[in-house]
Amino acid sequence: RKVLCILGVFFALAIVALIITAVMQNKPLPKNIKYGIVLDAGSSHTSLYVYNWPAEKENDTGVVKQVEECKVEGNGISHYFQEPVKAGLSIDACVTRAQQVIPANQHKETPIYLGATAGMRLLRLNNHTVADEVLSSVENSLRSSPFDFQGARIITGQEEGAYGWITINYLLKNFVEESSVLNLLPSFRKTETSGALDLGGASTQITFVSDEDIETQENTLHFRLYGKSYNVYTHSYLCYGKDQALRLQLVKNIVNTRNGTMWDPCFNPGYRRNTSTSELYSSPCVSQHTRFTTTPVNFEIKGTGDYQLCKANIQSIFNVSYCPYSQCSFNGIFQPVLQGKFGAFSAFYFVMDFLKVAHEKATLEDVKERVQSHCSRPWDQVKADFPKIKTKYLSEYCFSGVYILSLLELGYGFNADNWKEISFLGKISGSDAGWTLGYMLNLTNMIPAELPPSPPLSHG
Ligand code: AMP
Repeated sequence: RKVLCILGVFFALAIVALIITAVMQNKPLPKNIKYGIVLDAGSSHTSLYVYNWPAEKENDTGVVKQVEECKVEGNGISHYFQEPVKAGLSIDACVTRAQQVIPANQHKETPIYLGATAGMRLLRLNNHTVADEVLSSVENSLRSSPFDFQGARIITGQEEGAYGWITINYLLKNFVEESSVLNLLPSFRKTETSGALDLGGASTQITFVSDEDIETQENTLHFRLYGKSYNVYTHSYLCYGKDQALRLQLVKNIVNTRNGTMWDPCFNPGYRRNTSTSELYSSPCVSQHTRFTTTPVNFEIKGTGDYQLCKANIQSIFNVSYCPYSQCSFNGIFQPVLQGKFGAFSAFYFVMDFLKVAHEKATLEDVKERVQSHCSRPWDQVKADFPKIKTKYLSEYCFSGVYILSLLELGYGFNADNWKEISFLGKISGSDAGWTLGYMLNLTNMIPAELPPSPPLSHG
Protein backbone atom coordinates (compact mmCIF):
# COMPACT_ATOMS: atom_id res chain seq x y z
CA ARG A 1 0.00 0.00 0.00
CA LYS A 2 2.86 2.30 0.86
CA VAL A 3 4.48 1.71 -2.55
CA LEU A 4 1.17 2.33 -4.30
CA CYS A 5 0.72 5.56 -2.34
CA ILE A 6 4.21 6.83 -3.28
CA LEU A 7 3.58 5.93 -6.92
CA GLY A 8 0.27 7.86 -6.81
CA VAL A 9 1.96 10.98 -5.45
CA PHE A 10 4.65 10.70 -8.13
CA PHE A 11 2.03 10.31 -10.81
CA ALA A 12 0.11 13.39 -9.59
CA LEU A 13 3.32 15.46 -9.41
CA ALA A 14 4.26 14.40 -12.94
CA ILE A 15 0.85 15.53 -14.24
CA VAL A 16 1.16 18.90 -12.46
CA ALA A 17 4.67 19.33 -13.92
CA LEU A 18 3.35 18.52 -17.41
CA ILE A 19 0.55 21.07 -17.09
CA ILE A 20 2.96 23.75 -15.88
CA THR A 21 5.35 23.04 -18.79
CA ALA A 22 2.47 23.19 -21.30
CA VAL A 23 1.22 26.48 -19.89
CA MET A 24 4.75 27.91 -19.88
CA GLN A 25 5.31 26.90 -23.49
CA ASN A 26 2.14 28.60 -24.66
CA LYS A 27 2.86 31.73 -22.74
CA PRO A 28 4.30 34.43 -24.99
CA LEU A 29 7.77 35.64 -24.12
CA PRO A 30 7.68 38.81 -22.01
CA LYS A 31 7.43 41.72 -24.45
CA ASN A 32 10.10 44.38 -24.66
CA ILE A 33 8.02 47.52 -24.13
CA LYS A 34 9.42 50.97 -24.80
CA TYR A 35 8.06 54.27 -23.44
CA GLY A 36 8.02 57.91 -24.51
CA ILE A 37 6.66 61.08 -22.86
CA VAL A 38 5.39 64.31 -24.44
CA LEU A 39 4.10 67.37 -22.59
CA ASP A 40 1.61 69.51 -24.48
CA ALA A 41 2.07 72.98 -23.03
CA GLY A 42 -1.12 74.52 -24.39
CA SER A 43 -2.40 78.06 -23.88
CA SER A 44 -4.92 77.12 -21.18
CA HIS A 45 -3.34 74.02 -19.64
CA THR A 46 -0.52 71.48 -19.86
CA SER A 47 -1.04 67.74 -20.26
CA LEU A 48 1.61 65.05 -19.97
CA TYR A 49 1.14 61.99 -22.18
CA VAL A 50 2.87 58.65 -21.69
CA TYR A 51 3.03 56.37 -24.75
CA ASN A 52 4.28 52.82 -25.07
CA TRP A 53 4.91 50.32 -27.85
CA PRO A 54 6.46 46.88 -28.34
CA ALA A 55 10.11 47.48 -29.31
CA GLU A 56 10.08 44.91 -32.09
CA LYS A 57 7.10 46.54 -33.83
CA GLU A 58 8.46 50.07 -33.71
CA ASN A 59 7.98 50.74 -37.43
CA ASP A 60 4.49 49.29 -37.77
CA THR A 61 1.56 51.69 -37.97
CA GLY A 62 -0.89 52.13 -35.10
CA VAL A 63 1.19 50.26 -32.48
CA VAL A 64 2.09 53.22 -30.26
CA LYS A 65 -0.54 53.68 -27.58
CA GLN A 66 -1.28 56.36 -25.02
CA VAL A 67 -1.15 54.73 -21.58
CA GLU A 68 -1.53 57.81 -19.38
CA GLU A 69 -2.68 61.43 -19.54
CA CYS A 70 -1.78 63.58 -16.56
CA LYS A 71 -3.43 67.02 -16.49
CA VAL A 72 -1.25 69.63 -14.84
CA GLU A 73 -3.03 71.57 -12.07
CA GLY A 74 -3.76 75.20 -12.88
CA ASN A 75 -3.13 77.28 -15.98
CA GLY A 76 -0.91 76.89 -19.02
CA ILE A 77 2.79 77.77 -18.67
CA SER A 78 2.43 81.14 -20.43
CA HIS A 79 0.31 82.31 -17.46
CA TYR A 80 3.46 82.21 -15.29
CA PHE A 81 4.94 85.26 -17.06
CA GLN A 82 5.14 87.16 -13.75
CA GLU A 83 6.90 84.34 -11.91
CA PRO A 84 8.53 82.06 -14.53
CA VAL A 85 10.11 79.79 -11.87
CA LYS A 86 6.65 78.53 -10.93
CA ALA A 87 6.06 77.22 -14.48
CA GLY A 88 8.60 74.46 -13.82
CA LEU A 89 7.15 73.63 -10.41
CA SER A 90 3.68 73.32 -11.92
CA ILE A 91 4.63 70.31 -14.05
CA ASP A 92 6.49 68.37 -11.32
CA ALA A 93 3.46 66.41 -10.08
CA CYS A 94 2.79 65.01 -13.56
CA VAL A 95 6.46 64.10 -14.07
CA THR A 96 6.29 62.19 -10.78
CA ARG A 97 3.14 60.45 -12.04
CA ALA A 98 5.05 59.36 -15.17
CA GLN A 99 7.71 57.82 -12.90
CA GLN A 100 5.02 55.67 -11.32
CA VAL A 101 3.56 54.56 -14.67
CA ILE A 102 6.89 53.68 -16.33
CA PRO A 103 8.96 50.82 -14.82
CA ALA A 104 11.98 52.26 -12.96
CA ASN A 105 14.52 50.29 -15.00
CA GLN A 106 13.29 52.08 -18.16
CA HIS A 107 13.35 55.68 -16.86
CA LYS A 108 16.85 56.47 -18.12
CA GLU A 109 16.10 55.44 -21.69
CA THR A 110 12.63 57.03 -21.90
CA PRO A 111 12.68 60.23 -23.98
CA ILE A 112 10.74 63.21 -22.61
CA TYR A 113 9.77 66.18 -24.81
CA LEU A 114 7.87 69.40 -24.11
CA GLY A 115 6.22 71.36 -26.90
CA ALA A 116 4.56 74.69 -26.22
CA THR A 117 1.98 76.08 -28.61
CA ALA A 118 0.16 79.36 -29.30
CA GLY A 119 -0.04 80.63 -25.68
CA MET A 120 3.76 80.74 -25.65
CA ARG A 121 3.90 82.10 -29.22
CA LEU A 122 1.85 85.03 -27.97
CA LEU A 123 3.96 85.49 -24.83
CA ARG A 124 7.10 85.49 -27.02
CA LEU A 125 5.53 88.23 -29.16
CA ASN A 126 4.85 90.26 -26.01
CA ASN A 127 8.16 89.63 -24.27
CA HIS A 128 10.83 87.37 -25.76
CA THR A 129 12.97 87.33 -22.58
CA VAL A 130 10.14 86.28 -20.30
CA ALA A 131 9.09 83.53 -22.74
CA ASP A 132 12.68 82.20 -22.63
CA GLU A 133 12.62 82.29 -18.82
CA VAL A 134 9.40 80.26 -18.72
CA LEU A 135 10.92 77.70 -21.11
CA SER A 136 14.14 77.50 -19.04
CA SER A 137 12.07 76.91 -15.95
CA VAL A 138 10.21 73.91 -17.43
CA GLU A 139 13.46 72.68 -18.97
CA ASN A 140 15.15 72.65 -15.54
CA SER A 141 12.28 70.62 -14.11
CA LEU A 142 12.47 68.07 -16.90
CA ARG A 143 16.27 67.86 -16.75
CA SER A 144 16.10 66.99 -13.06
CA SER A 145 13.73 64.08 -13.78
CA PRO A 146 15.15 60.58 -14.27
CA PHE A 147 14.01 60.58 -17.92
CA ASP A 148 16.04 61.26 -21.07
CA PHE A 149 15.34 64.98 -21.64
CA GLN A 150 15.10 65.76 -25.36
CA GLY A 151 14.08 69.42 -25.38
CA ALA A 152 11.47 72.01 -24.39
CA ARG A 153 10.57 74.43 -27.19
CA ILE A 154 7.81 76.44 -28.78
CA ILE A 155 6.67 74.49 -31.82
CA THR A 156 5.58 76.39 -34.92
CA GLY A 157 1.98 76.54 -36.08
CA GLN A 158 3.03 74.52 -39.14
CA GLU A 159 4.44 71.76 -36.94
CA GLU A 160 1.31 71.79 -34.82
CA GLY A 161 -0.82 71.27 -37.94
CA ALA A 162 1.50 68.66 -39.42
CA TYR A 163 1.84 66.54 -36.28
CA GLY A 164 -1.91 66.64 -35.60
CA TRP A 165 -2.46 65.32 -39.13
CA ILE A 166 0.17 62.58 -38.63
CA THR A 167 -1.35 61.59 -35.27
CA ILE A 168 -4.88 61.05 -36.49
CA ASN A 169 -3.86 59.26 -39.69
CA TYR A 170 -1.46 57.03 -37.75
CA LEU A 171 -4.16 56.14 -35.21
CA LEU A 172 -6.76 55.62 -37.93
CA LYS A 173 -4.20 53.37 -39.71
CA ASN A 174 -4.60 55.40 -42.90
CA PHE A 175 -0.95 55.28 -43.93
CA VAL A 176 -0.69 51.58 -44.72
CA GLU A 177 -3.22 49.61 -46.74
CA GLU A 178 -4.63 46.71 -44.85
CA SER A 179 -3.56 43.44 -46.41
CA SER A 180 -6.72 41.95 -47.77
CA VAL A 181 -7.73 40.37 -51.04
CA LEU A 182 -10.10 43.31 -51.52
CA ASN A 183 -7.05 45.57 -51.84
CA LEU A 184 -6.29 43.96 -55.17
CA LEU A 185 -9.33 45.79 -56.51
CA PRO A 186 -8.48 49.49 -56.91
CA SER A 187 -11.94 50.58 -55.77
CA PHE A 188 -11.39 48.92 -52.38
CA ARG A 189 -7.94 50.30 -51.78
CA LYS A 190 -7.80 52.26 -48.56
CA THR A 191 -5.42 55.05 -49.46
CA GLU A 192 -7.24 58.18 -48.34
CA THR A 193 -5.94 60.19 -45.42
CA SER A 194 -8.15 62.35 -43.26
CA GLY A 195 -7.66 66.11 -42.93
CA ALA A 196 -7.07 67.49 -39.41
CA LEU A 197 -8.94 70.36 -37.75
CA ASP A 198 -7.51 71.38 -34.39
CA LEU A 199 -8.96 74.11 -32.17
CA GLY A 200 -6.96 75.34 -29.19
CA GLY A 201 -7.37 78.35 -26.94
CA ALA A 202 -5.01 80.65 -28.86
CA SER A 203 -4.71 79.14 -32.37
CA THR A 204 -6.48 76.82 -34.75
CA GLN A 205 -5.00 74.60 -37.46
CA ILE A 206 -6.35 73.13 -40.70
CA THR A 207 -4.31 70.47 -42.52
CA PHE A 208 -5.28 68.25 -45.47
CA VAL A 209 -3.95 66.49 -48.56
CA SER A 210 -4.58 68.55 -51.68
CA ASP A 211 -4.24 67.57 -55.34
CA GLU A 212 -4.26 71.24 -56.28
CA ASP A 213 -1.34 73.60 -56.66
CA ILE A 214 -0.59 75.08 -53.21
CA GLU A 215 0.16 78.71 -54.04
CA THR A 216 2.06 79.58 -50.88
CA GLN A 217 5.24 77.85 -49.76
CA GLU A 218 4.61 78.43 -46.07
CA ASN A 219 1.41 76.37 -46.35
CA THR A 220 3.03 73.42 -48.13
CA LEU A 221 4.27 70.19 -46.55
CA HIS A 222 5.74 67.21 -48.41
CA PHE A 223 5.84 63.88 -46.63
CA ARG A 224 7.09 60.48 -47.62
CA LEU A 225 5.62 57.97 -45.20
CA TYR A 226 5.57 54.17 -45.46
CA GLY A 227 6.50 54.35 -49.15
CA LYS A 228 3.95 56.96 -50.20
CA SER A 229 4.25 60.68 -50.97
CA TYR A 230 1.79 63.21 -49.61
CA ASN A 231 1.25 66.82 -50.67
CA VAL A 232 -0.24 68.49 -47.65
CA TYR A 233 -1.72 71.95 -47.13
CA THR A 234 -1.55 73.41 -43.61
CA HIS A 235 -2.28 76.71 -41.94
CA SER A 236 -2.29 77.79 -38.30
CA TYR A 237 -4.33 80.89 -37.44
CA LEU A 238 -2.78 82.61 -34.43
CA CYS A 239 -5.45 84.44 -32.37
CA TYR A 240 -8.27 82.28 -33.79
CA GLY A 241 -8.19 79.74 -30.98
CA LYS A 242 -11.46 80.00 -29.08
CA ASP A 243 -10.21 81.99 -26.07
CA GLN A 244 -8.49 84.65 -28.19
CA ALA A 245 -11.47 84.75 -30.57
CA LEU A 246 -13.80 85.37 -27.61
CA ARG A 247 -11.50 88.22 -26.58
CA LEU A 248 -11.70 89.68 -30.12
CA GLN A 249 -15.48 89.44 -30.02
CA LEU A 250 -15.64 91.16 -26.63
CA VAL A 251 -13.24 93.90 -27.73
CA LYS A 252 -15.51 94.64 -30.71
CA ASN A 253 -18.46 94.81 -28.33
CA ILE A 254 -16.86 97.32 -25.91
CA VAL A 255 -18.46 100.16 -27.89
CA ASN A 256 -21.81 98.89 -26.58
CA THR A 257 -20.84 99.43 -22.93
CA ARG A 258 -23.21 101.74 -21.04
CA ASN A 259 -23.00 102.64 -17.34
CA GLY A 260 -20.51 99.88 -16.60
CA THR A 261 -22.51 97.15 -18.35
CA MET A 262 -21.72 95.44 -21.61
CA TRP A 263 -24.61 93.42 -23.01
CA ASP A 264 -23.13 90.47 -24.86
CA PRO A 265 -25.15 88.22 -27.21
CA CYS A 266 -22.74 85.26 -26.92
CA PHE A 267 -23.46 84.46 -23.25
CA ASN A 268 -26.63 82.90 -21.87
CA PRO A 269 -29.30 85.34 -20.62
CA GLY A 270 -28.73 86.06 -16.93
CA TYR A 271 -25.01 85.29 -17.06
CA ARG A 272 -22.70 87.96 -15.53
CA ARG A 273 -18.93 88.32 -15.46
CA ASN A 274 -16.65 91.19 -14.39
CA THR A 275 -13.82 92.22 -16.64
CA SER A 276 -11.85 95.29 -17.68
CA THR A 277 -10.35 96.88 -20.74
CA SER A 278 -6.84 96.22 -19.39
CA GLU A 279 -7.68 92.51 -19.08
CA LEU A 280 -9.14 92.34 -22.60
CA TYR A 281 -6.33 94.37 -24.17
CA SER A 282 -3.56 92.29 -22.56
CA SER A 283 -2.93 90.20 -25.67
CA PRO A 284 -0.99 90.85 -28.87
CA CYS A 285 -4.11 89.58 -30.69
CA VAL A 286 -5.85 92.87 -29.91
CA SER A 287 -4.35 95.39 -32.32
CA GLN A 288 -3.71 98.94 -31.12
CA HIS A 289 -6.26 100.55 -33.44
CA THR A 290 -9.15 98.44 -32.12
CA ARG A 291 -8.51 99.71 -28.56
CA PHE A 292 -11.45 101.86 -27.65
CA THR A 293 -9.88 103.60 -24.67
CA THR A 294 -6.45 103.89 -23.12
CA THR A 295 -7.69 104.49 -19.58
CA PRO A 296 -8.55 101.21 -17.85
CA VAL A 297 -12.27 100.69 -17.40
CA ASN A 298 -13.90 97.97 -15.34
CA PHE A 299 -17.27 96.72 -16.49
CA GLU A 300 -19.70 93.87 -16.17
CA ILE A 301 -20.56 91.58 -19.08
CA LYS A 302 -24.23 90.54 -19.08
CA GLY A 303 -25.42 87.79 -21.44
CA THR A 304 -28.41 88.18 -23.75
CA GLY A 305 -28.13 84.79 -25.54
CA ASP A 306 -28.96 86.16 -28.98
CA TYR A 307 -27.67 83.64 -31.53
CA GLN A 308 -28.10 85.89 -34.60
CA LEU A 309 -26.38 88.89 -33.02
CA CYS A 310 -23.62 86.68 -31.64
CA LYS A 311 -23.08 85.20 -35.09
CA ALA A 312 -22.90 88.68 -36.65
CA ASN A 313 -20.36 89.84 -34.04
CA ILE A 314 -18.21 86.77 -34.52
CA GLN A 315 -18.37 86.94 -38.30
CA SER A 316 -17.01 90.48 -38.15
CA ILE A 317 -13.65 89.10 -36.97
CA PHE A 318 -13.27 87.16 -40.26
CA ASN A 319 -12.13 89.26 -43.21
CA VAL A 320 -13.48 87.45 -46.26
CA SER A 321 -13.35 90.39 -48.67
CA TYR A 322 -9.62 90.43 -49.34
CA CYS A 323 -7.66 87.67 -51.15
CA PRO A 324 -4.34 88.06 -52.98
CA TYR A 325 -4.51 84.43 -54.32
CA SER A 326 -6.85 82.44 -56.57
CA GLN A 327 -8.83 81.50 -53.45
CA CYS A 328 -8.70 82.15 -49.72
CA SER A 329 -10.16 81.04 -46.45
CA PHE A 330 -10.17 84.37 -44.57
CA ASN A 331 -7.81 87.22 -43.65
CA GLY A 332 -6.07 86.89 -47.04
CA ILE A 333 -4.81 83.34 -46.36
CA PHE A 334 -4.58 80.97 -49.33
CA GLN A 335 -6.59 77.75 -49.01
CA PRO A 336 -7.16 75.15 -51.74
CA VAL A 337 -10.61 73.54 -52.18
CA LEU A 338 -11.47 71.32 -49.20
CA GLN A 339 -10.69 67.70 -50.03
CA GLY A 340 -11.59 64.38 -48.39
CA LYS A 341 -12.70 63.57 -44.87
CA PHE A 342 -11.73 65.58 -41.80
CA GLY A 343 -11.17 64.72 -38.17
CA ALA A 344 -11.96 67.67 -35.84
CA PHE A 345 -10.45 67.41 -32.38
CA SER A 346 -9.49 69.23 -29.15
CA ALA A 347 -11.91 72.10 -28.50
CA PHE A 348 -13.91 71.24 -31.67
CA TYR A 349 -14.68 67.94 -29.95
CA PHE A 350 -15.17 69.26 -26.38
CA VAL A 351 -17.77 71.78 -27.53
CA MET A 352 -19.65 69.57 -29.99
CA ASP A 353 -19.64 66.73 -27.47
CA PHE A 354 -21.14 68.99 -24.79
CA LEU A 355 -23.82 70.16 -27.27
CA LYS A 356 -24.49 66.49 -28.15
CA VAL A 357 -23.85 67.01 -31.85
CA ALA A 358 -20.47 65.27 -32.12
CA HIS A 359 -22.13 62.16 -33.65
CA GLU A 360 -22.10 61.57 -37.39
CA LYS A 361 -25.88 61.81 -37.82
CA ALA A 362 -26.02 65.50 -36.93
CA THR A 363 -26.41 67.71 -40.01
CA LEU A 364 -25.15 71.29 -40.21
CA GLU A 365 -28.76 72.45 -39.73
CA ASP A 366 -29.11 70.25 -36.60
CA VAL A 367 -25.96 71.78 -35.14
CA LYS A 368 -27.17 75.33 -35.80
CA GLU A 369 -30.52 74.62 -34.15
CA ARG A 370 -28.82 73.01 -31.17
CA VAL A 371 -26.41 75.92 -30.67
CA GLN A 372 -29.21 78.47 -31.06
CA SER A 373 -31.40 76.71 -28.52
CA HIS A 374 -28.48 76.36 -26.07
CA CYS A 375 -27.65 80.08 -26.38
CA SER A 376 -31.23 81.10 -25.56
CA ARG A 377 -31.36 79.04 -22.32
CA PRO A 378 -31.26 81.06 -19.08
CA TRP A 379 -27.92 80.75 -17.27
CA ASP A 380 -29.59 79.56 -14.02
CA GLN A 381 -31.06 76.57 -15.82
CA VAL A 382 -27.81 75.74 -17.60
CA LYS A 383 -25.95 75.85 -14.30
CA ALA A 384 -28.55 73.70 -12.56
CA ASP A 385 -28.38 71.09 -15.33
CA PHE A 386 -24.58 70.81 -15.30
CA PRO A 387 -23.42 71.44 -11.74
CA LYS A 388 -20.19 69.49 -12.27
CA ILE A 389 -18.90 71.37 -15.33
CA LYS A 390 -16.41 74.19 -14.64
CA THR A 391 -18.21 77.57 -14.84
CA LYS A 392 -15.55 78.90 -17.24
CA TYR A 393 -16.28 76.14 -19.79
CA LEU A 394 -20.04 76.07 -19.17
CA SER A 395 -20.47 79.81 -19.63
CA GLU A 396 -18.65 79.73 -22.97
CA TYR A 397 -20.39 76.88 -24.83
CA CYS A 398 -22.78 79.34 -26.50
CA PHE A 399 -19.93 81.50 -27.80
CA SER A 400 -17.83 78.44 -28.70
CA GLY A 401 -20.67 76.76 -30.60
CA VAL A 402 -21.33 79.88 -32.69
CA TYR A 403 -17.59 80.42 -33.18
CA ILE A 404 -17.01 76.84 -34.40
CA LEU A 405 -19.89 77.16 -36.87
CA SER A 406 -18.53 80.48 -38.17
CA LEU A 407 -14.95 79.21 -38.44
CA LEU A 408 -15.98 76.05 -40.30
CA GLU A 409 -18.57 77.66 -42.55
CA LEU A 410 -17.49 81.23 -43.22
CA GLY A 411 -13.78 80.68 -42.51
CA TYR A 412 -12.94 77.32 -44.08
CA GLY A 413 -15.87 76.92 -46.47
CA PHE A 414 -17.70 73.86 -45.10
CA ASN A 415 -21.39 73.71 -46.01
CA ALA A 416 -24.50 71.57 -45.59
CA ASP A 417 -23.21 69.10 -48.23
CA ASN A 418 -19.69 68.45 -46.97
CA TRP A 419 -20.53 68.74 -43.24
CA LYS A 420 -20.87 64.92 -43.22
CA GLU A 421 -17.15 64.65 -44.06
CA ILE A 422 -16.28 66.02 -40.60
CA SER A 423 -15.92 63.56 -37.70
CA PHE A 424 -15.57 65.04 -34.24
CA LEU A 425 -12.89 62.98 -32.49
CA GLY A 426 -11.94 62.81 -28.82
CA LYS A 427 -9.89 59.64 -28.58
CA ILE A 428 -8.96 57.23 -31.37
CA SER A 429 -8.43 53.66 -30.05
CA GLY A 430 -7.69 55.02 -26.58
CA SER A 431 -5.22 57.75 -27.61
CA ASP A 432 -6.10 61.46 -27.62
CA ALA A 433 -6.24 63.16 -31.01
CA GLY A 434 -3.70 66.02 -30.93
CA TRP A 435 -0.21 66.89 -32.12
CA THR A 436 1.80 65.14 -29.36
CA LEU A 437 1.83 61.58 -30.69
CA GLY A 438 2.86 62.70 -34.20
CA TYR A 439 5.61 64.82 -32.66
CA MET A 440 7.03 61.86 -30.75
CA LEU A 441 6.70 59.47 -33.71
CA ASN A 442 8.67 61.90 -35.83
CA LEU A 443 11.39 62.70 -33.30
CA THR A 444 11.97 59.06 -32.43
CA ASN A 445 12.10 58.13 -36.15
CA MET A 446 9.22 55.74 -35.77
CA ILE A 447 7.62 56.57 -39.11
CA PRO A 448 9.73 55.12 -41.91
CA ALA A 449 9.83 56.90 -45.27
CA GLU A 450 9.65 53.55 -47.02
CA LEU A 451 7.48 50.57 -46.24
CA PRO A 452 9.61 48.08 -44.27
CA PRO A 453 9.92 44.80 -46.26
CA SER A 454 7.58 42.27 -44.71
CA PRO A 455 9.14 38.83 -44.23
CA PRO A 456 7.33 35.98 -46.05
CA LEU A 457 6.83 34.17 -42.76
CA SER A 458 5.96 36.50 -39.98
CA HIS A 459 4.91 35.82 -36.44
CA GLY A 460 2.98 39.09 -36.53
P1 AMP B 1 -5.14 74.82 -25.37
O1 AMP B 1 -4.95 74.96 -23.89
O2 AMP B 1 -4.50 75.91 -26.16
O3 AMP B 1 -4.78 73.45 -25.86
O4 AMP B 1 -6.69 74.99 -25.69
C1 AMP B 1 -7.68 74.14 -25.25
C2 AMP B 1 -8.99 74.85 -25.38
O5 AMP B 1 -10.03 73.92 -25.07
C3 AMP B 1 -9.17 76.02 -24.42
O6 AMP B 1 -9.97 77.00 -25.05
C4 AMP B 1 -9.92 75.39 -23.26
O7 AMP B 1 -10.72 76.34 -22.58
C5 AMP B 1 -10.80 74.42 -24.01
N1 AMP B 1 -11.27 73.27 -23.23
C6 AMP B 1 -10.56 72.32 -22.60
N2 AMP B 1 -11.39 71.43 -22.02
C7 AMP B 1 -12.65 71.82 -22.30
C8 AMP B 1 -13.95 71.33 -21.98
N3 AMP B 1 -14.10 70.22 -21.27
N4 AMP B 1 -15.02 72.01 -22.44
C9 AMP B 1 -14.84 73.12 -23.18
N5 AMP B 1 -13.68 73.65 -23.50
C10 AMP B 1 -12.58 73.01 -23.07
